[in-house]
Formats: sequence, C-alpha cells, structure tokens
Amino acid sequence: NYKELEKLLFSMDGKSYSAYKSLKGEYKFEKYILAIDHVQSDPYAPPSKMRVIMDRKICGIPYELTDTKDKNIAVSDFLTRNFYREIQKIGNDSTGTGGSGRIFIDRCGQEILERTSVLIKRDKVEVRFEMGMPARGRRIMGKAAQKIIFEQLPEIVEKSIIYDNLNKKALNEQVILVLDQEYARKMLKEKGLVAFVANDSVLPRESGVSDRPMKNAVKFKSPEKFEITLKLPSGKEISGMGIPKGITLIVGGGYHGKSTLLAALERGVYNHIAQDGRELIISESDAVKIRAEDGRNVEKVNISGFINNLPQNKDTRAFSTENASGSTSQAANVAEALEYGTSLLLIDEDTSATNFMIRDGRMQKLVAKEKEPITPFIDRVKELYDNFGVSTILIVGGSGDYFDMANHVIMMDEYVPKDVTEKAKEIAKLDENKREFSSNDKFKGVTQRIPLKKSFSQSGKLDKTKAKGKYSILYGKELIDISGLEQLVDDSQTNCIAVMIDYFKNKVLDEKLTLSQAADRIYEKIEKEGLDSISSYTGHPGNLALPRKQEFCGAVNRYRKLRIK
Ligand code: ADP
Ligand code: MG
Repeated sequence: NYKELEKLLFSMDGKSYSAYKSLKGEYKFEKYILAIDHVQSDPYAPPSKMRVIMDRKICGIPYELTDTKDKNIAVSDFLTRNFYREIQKIGNDSTGTGGSGRIFIDRCGQEILERTSVLIKRDKVEVRFEMGMPARGRRIMGKAAQKIIFEQLPEIVEKSIIYDNLNKKALNEQVILVLDQEYARKMLKEKGLVAFVANDSVLPRESGVSDRPMKNAVKFKSPEKFEITLKLPSGKEISGMGIPKGITLIVGGGYHGKSTLLAALERGVYNHIAQDGRELIISESDAVKIRAEDGRNVEKVNISGFINNLPQNKDTRAFSTENASGSTSQAANVAEALEYGTSLLLIDEDTSATNFMIRDGRMQKLVAKEKEPITPFIDRVKELYDNFGVSTILIVGGSGDYFDMANHVIMMDEYVPKDVTEKAKEIAKLDENKREFSSNDKFKGVTQRIPLKKSFSQSGKLDKTKAKGKYSILYGKELIDISGLEQLVDDSQTNCIAVMIDYFKNKVLDEKLTLSQAADRIYEKIEKEGLDSISSYTGHPGNLALPRKQEFCGAVNRYRKLRIK
C-alpha cells in the first residue's frame, strides 16, 4: 500500500536513478490505486507511465452520463481536460534535471475525440498519465518524488475526476452538446444535405497558429434560400445553412472568407467543445479535403479518370511515381479518397493545381484533346455525383466555367454568404465562348488496391513505428510525411496512426484484403474492444486519439515503400 511506497521513496533519496525501477507495481491509496507501469531509465528519457484507477462508486459519475459510446467519449474528454488544467495549476517547482517533477496528460484541442487518456468503465475510472521522476543529475530526489505522488497527485485527482468536485453543469452540457452534434450529423442524410453551418457560428480562428475562435468575428448568417431548422435532442432548435448534396460552388472576392468557410467544413467531421464557435458546424463524417501535394509518392493508383495518354505510354490505371506533380498528386488524392469511401470532396483553389481544376474554351481550341493528358476535375465533377453519389464543395474564385456544373453557387461577400445560383446560371447561358467536354470516355471509377507484405519486411518486426509531432511518422528509418492530411487535428491521432500501422502490418496485412478492407478490420476491432486493444506498447497506451479511416489510409499511402499487388 501507499505507506510502503512512501518508505521506498525516502529510502531512495540520493541513490542512483536506476533504483526508481523497483517502484514498478500497484499501490493502494485511500481513494484509488496508483499503478506505476513503466519507469523511465534516466531523467531525460520519456517520462514514466502511471495510472490512477478509481472505483466508479468513489468517482461518483452517474451511469446515465456514460451509457452510450458518444456520452462516454464526451465525459472522458471532459475529465482529460480537467486533469490537464489541474496539472497546470499546480505547476512545477522542482529544480531537478530533465523532465523532473512534471506530470503530463494528453492535451485536448478544440475537437472532442475518442481517446485513451481517461478510460471510463462501469466499475472503474482509469486516468493514464506520465510523470518525470525527479532527479538532480542522476541522483534520485526521493523527497521531491514523495511530494508529487503524495501531495500534488492526490489533489489533482481529487479536483479533476471526483464527481462532487466537478463543474457538473459544464459536464452535463458537454454530454448534451456531443449528442446534439452526433444527431445533427445523422440528420444530414435524412435532409439530403452534406453539411450544415448554424447561424451565429464563428468560423475564423484567432491566428494561423491558434485554433481558438477569432474575437469580434463576423458571425455566420445563412442565405435565406439555404436556411433550414434542426430540432436537436436537447430541445434546442437551431437554424443555419444546409448545403445540399450535389455540386456547390463557393465564389467571392479575395479575402472575403471563402477559405475560412471551407476550413470550417473540413473540421465539421469532428465534434467541437462549447465556445469554439464551430460547435454546430457539421459535415458528413467521411468528407475529404482534396489538395495538390506535389512531391508525394503514389503507388499504383488508378488515376486514369483524370490523367491519360501520358508521354511514353505510361499506364495511368496503376500509376506510380516517387515525385508526383501538382495535378497528378491531386488526381491521386481524389482516387484514393474514392477508394476508402467518401461522400463529399472539399476543394480550395488556394491549394489546387490549376490544370487539374479547369481548362477554358480558348485553351481547348489551341491544344488538341489528344495532346492533353489531363481531364480536368470540371469534366468529372458531375459524373462523380450522378454516377458515384459523391458531392463536391469547391472554391473557385478565378473562373466561371464551373457555373455550368454547379447545382448551387454561394458567394462570400464580406464574410456573409449569399445565394447567387440563378445569376451564375444566367451568365453561363449567355456565354459564347463555351468550353467542350474534354474527355473521350466516361469516368470508370477507381481500383481497390491490395498492399503486399514485402512493403514492410525490410528489417522485419524489429522496426518500430513512431510518431514525430503531428505530421510525420517514422517507420524504422523511413519517414512518412503526412502534412498533406489537413484534417488531422491532434498529435495523439498521429500516435494512434503509428500504432495502427504496427497493428496493420503485424496482424491484418494478408495480401487478400484491400487497403480499405484492412482498415475496416482495424476499426471493427477498435469498435468492439476499445482503442487500447490495438496497442502493444509497454505501459499504458495513454496518448492515443482515434483518427478517421481517411487519415489512417492516407498515411499508409504516403509510406514510400508501400508496394501493391
Ligand atoms: P478568401 O479565401 O476568400 O481569400 P479567407 O477565408 O482566407 O478569404 O479570409 C481572409 C481573412 O479574413 C482571414 O484572415 C480570415 O481570418 C478573415 N476572416 C474570415 N472570415 C471572417 C469573419 N467571419 N469575420 C472576421 N474575419 C474573418
Ligand atoms: Mg482563399
């Protein structure tokens, strides 16, 4: 029990750091069990892994608040934020070396994600955190360790997870908010929509490096034509802009808020915390941002719907390159998104390859069809919707050619959206310089690809997969650059992708499953057994946040040694 631990810590004072190893084990405290799962080997190593395991009755959180998965995620997120906040309040007064005397837990951003940081079960609540075991040089600071474990930690735990000490109203509201958001997302399909933006939402962010809402922003107001009202489970009735299925064009002058609207829709696949400004901006959960990403590798992707008749007869039904151009990378991104499955593509002119997006009538007259390998997106966007059920929302401020294709045209005017569909259609009708459909054939869809085992076998199972920040993953010595995945929002999602890639190559990859099917297997496992179940790490897997299938597959596709059958 705890007395034993206290004695141990005092007796270690001044000894060499490795003596900390003997702390591994479980200790009974008054209100919880402290499990020391993994002890760091020196003060500069990643901090030690610990858990607080508390009986549900002592914790006191009512069962009605956690009896569905969505509610459970909302509460777990709330407790993680609490724990983080209490750690910050206590601060770190240790004068030791490296990460001495610091406690860490996942830091949640504006999104509410499924995480492993706080596990809530019917009989217990488990908080997974890390602690830098204090040292001066390499000598153990036993008294400092005693103070953290016996004074600071109990206070953090007391204030952050015991129901009676929580802000019950805020907790309750977070649960209700998540249920409203999930419900709104389900309602999209029923109402024939792909996205919804509530009136009074705040779209712009504080700055390029802060995801908090901008202060004094112009609040969102739906054009009358698109305004709908949703009745939410909480009883709230909210009005806002419903973006219907089909092809929706966002136009408007530079700096009038087009990209800001699209960015909010990209994030609408996630739920957001109260006061974020985007709590009721809801998109189809499988919406994918498509951008050009020159330099990325592409492995046997069928991009023939967009690119054909390349010089030297290069086959584009299974196109590979280690250094894609703007247009080929964007074509590959579309093809891959269709492979994993998506109902909505989001495209911004700012991050697109022009020759992938448009080719006007004049250029068509100058360069013969046979000499141009690219069938621009404008000639596929309608087929994608009509024949494959994939909607597109796209920003094109610089060319009116899309007027012909669009079902709806929304103009951003000083941050306020206006419906300009009819006007755009009229202009298109009067135009004499019409362009022609530029392809010789129909869009035939994409090819499901089967990854090969040899993609990962260079040095066998020894290769660890490790996340480095939000945008890179290291597999052995191979760096996977995933900065093109703009809908990734949290470092812990990247951690989770790394763990998933490990699981994928060791347990799922069998040369029969397509990448999409293999991903589905992993998500089924997580759904059934929890996010913990895919981790093979020593100590608790406390730093995982679930990414979407789109981002997981996106990361695998950016692995440069991926080989396809
Ligand atoms: P566009 O894509 O039309 O050129 P952006 O979306 O990039 O324009 O927006 C331009 C600037 O305006 C950005 O700095 C953004 O933060 C700001 N902005 C966008 N929407 C609003 C708003 N509703 N209120 C205040 N500022 C906004
Ligand atoms: Mg823009």
